[in-house]
Amino acid sequence: MDENVAVALARRLLKDANVTAAPVDVEALALSLGFHVSRKELEEGEAGITFERRGKKHICVNQKDSLLRQRFTILHEIAHHVLKLPSKHGEKVPSNELERFTGRPPEEVLCDIFAAECLVPWELIQPLAEEKDFTLEHLAELAEQFQASRSCIASRFAQASNDHLAFVVAEDGVVKYSIVSKALKESRVWISKDIPLPRNSAAAKAFNSGISGLHEADSDGLDWSNSDDARRFACYEQAIYYAPAKQTQSILIFEELDERPVSTGYRSSRDDDDGLLDELDGYPGWSKPRY
Ligand SMILES: [Zn+2]
Repeated sequence: MDENVAVALARRLLKDANVTAAPVDVEALALSLGFHVSRKELEEGEAGITFERRGKKHICVNQKDSLLRQRFTILHEIAHHVLKLPSKHGEKVPSNELERFTGRPPEEVLCDIFAAECLVPWELIQPLAEEKDFTLEHLAELAEQFQASRSCIASRFAQASNDHLAFVVAEDGVVKYSIVSKALKESRVWISKDIPLPRNSAAAKAFNSGISGLHEADSDGLDWSNSDDARRFACYEQAIYYAPAKQTQSILIFEELDERPVSTGYRSSRDDDDGLLDELDGYPGWSKPRY
């Protein structure tokens, strides 16, 4: 079982259930597989339980959790069933595990991938990722529309976009999860896991401040990636820090640097000018203003 199989099975489930609009009706999806969903007050730190009673399958989620969390929990439990991956957490899903990346078994991560594919279907997010800019503001709108968490939306957006984008989650100042867009991958730029956040990144500043909040920063491609090709990029970052989980989420927009041709043709056309200085626009060559 790998990621591609998990994704393919999620897409098949959506197709069979005829899902064509957001937010996805997660309970209808569960019911299509014979799961009855209920809510009740579970113990602190318990996201959900799956069990069978009198031949019927049940998923019970913690009503104290947010609606978004409940939706994700239901899909995560469905994933164990569809992917036929026995749960590593027993019948109870600990709530501090879902959508976190530190020290989780691969089976659990695959179930999260399946859940994300169901919650934010490719066919729905792909046109939106083409149309909208990758900003925290737009991600918040999409989170509302899909009834999914920001990290789930951001990952899906980066996967679906044609631009040079990445989404990075770090815990305790160390990169735990990164997803780069297809265009960035094709430019041979990647972001490694288990490395400390770049010192001048917005995420590092946010983490070091110790206070939940939003930060922004400009950096170089090489700050984020040890790939040689990263030197061709500048990077703009918006990061948000959630202190209780010591987690930062960064959205990264890579801009290919202007490679000014140093051709003699260009030079000579300027050499016979009137002796005035080049026009100054207030920006060094590569650092174009961003709109
Ligand atoms: Zn699980």
